Amino acid sequence: MKGLWITEYQTPEMKLSCLTKKTLHHEITPFQELAVIDTETFGRMLLLDGVIQTTIKDEFVYHEMISLVALNTHKNPERVLVVGGGDGGTIREIVKHPKVKSATLVEIDGAVVEASKKYLPEIAAGYANPKVEVKIEDGIKHINESKGKYDIIIVDSTDPVGPAEGLFAKDFYQGIYDALKEEGIFVAQTESPYFNEDLIKRTGKDIADIFPIKKLFLSYIPTYPGGMWSFTMGSKKYDPEKVDIDKFPQLETRYYTPEIHKSAFVLPKFVQELIKS
Ligand code: SAM
Repeated sequence: MKGLWITEYQTPEMKLSCLTKKTLHHEITPFQELAVIDTETFGRMLLLDGVIQTTIKDEFVYHEMISLVALNTHKNPERVLVVGGGDGGTIREIVKHPKVKSATLVEIDGAVVEASKKYLPEIAAGYANPKVEVKIEDGIKHINESKGKYDIIIVDSTDPVGPAEGLFAKDFYQGIYDALKEEGIFVAQTESPYFNEDLIKRTGKDIADIFPIKKLFLSYIPTYPGGMWSFTMGSKKYDPEKVDIDKFPQLETRYYTPEIHKSAFVLPKFVQELIKS
């Protein structure tokens, strides 16, 4: 087939290639190499250091699941923080929830926010909402300076290399615990059960050491390695499986439903064994 292809190394030994239509943007920021590329199969996609972050075709799965499971588990999710998430998709989902009064996004790289507003306006749509506050700074610094402030903290990070490495560390999780209010909930994207077993085991243990409730849940995202993607929740009080789905607010979604909320915690046996070991 004619045309230029973009290839992501999903692991050192496995690649995903997409036929491109056009390179819309490319720059080297102080933190990473940023590109927005229009592709035949997934539409416009954001890449950081050659790694696919989000695409127009499948972004809704990740953004709904990283946000709405926690929002609907908490009884009163008024103050929400996102660490990372500069494309804006997670913030877009958070401001949909009727109980949210403020949504703060702390992103280390302002260029990601600007490029997303310009080239991925459907994903960056939440930035226009008056409840949203954007801070361009290191999420670790912000967490260390926040005590008992948030109802929900969502870590929507890049993979655990470069500036995001510290976002997967145990002392960062302790900082998150301290930055949450008494009934607070924390969610992080914790990568692929097929290719990141050690990370899932380590982060799961660290989160379980700090939070009384720790649960892993899954969703399915074709552009992420292996397709099956994990999120880990640490909760001070509320159990995400003991929710009354009849009390959930009506939200406009494409992936998340009350039934998906419940079924996301039903894990295949190999994933159960992974988090037990
Ligand atoms: N959904 C995506 C995924 O799993 O591939 C992640 C999306 S979002 C673009 C990730 C963001 O985290 C990036 O824009 C990156 O700049 C930001 N980030 C990385 N390290 C950070 C830090 N220490 N503080 C705040 N933001 C950080």
